[in-house]
Amino acid sequence: MLGEQDFDVFDELDKLVDSGLPTWQAIVTDATNRDISTLADLAVSHSLGVDNWSGVRVMCADCSRGDSPAGHGHPSASSNQSVLGFAGSETALSACLDEWLKARKIVQVEIKKLW
Ligand SMILES: [Zn+2]
Repeated sequence: MLGEQDFDVFDELDKLVDSGLPTWQAIVTDATNRDISTLADLAVSHSLGVDNWSGVRVMCADCSRGDSPAGHGHPSASSNQSVLGFAGSETALSACLDEWLKARKIVQVEIKKLW
């Protein structure tokens, strides 16, 4: 639902070929667009795959079918947050984030392994 109108959504995701590398989600708080761009460049130099997921709204299967119970929702990230997806080893991701965060003391990063 968007307002009072139903919209169809693409609700199928499937892994075509397993890369053998884990996928990570990072929620970055209080970084500028330039900081995010620098992080993306740094990730590539650490042999990580990176994608900006800030515009993606993930919802559960019930919500994707329009069957969500009243009061249930999936809030978007705050305006001071960016959501990034990374693919690569934990060692490479840690090295990348450590290097990036050295010069950004006020930025906060919350990392979660997705699969
Ligand atoms: Zn839901």
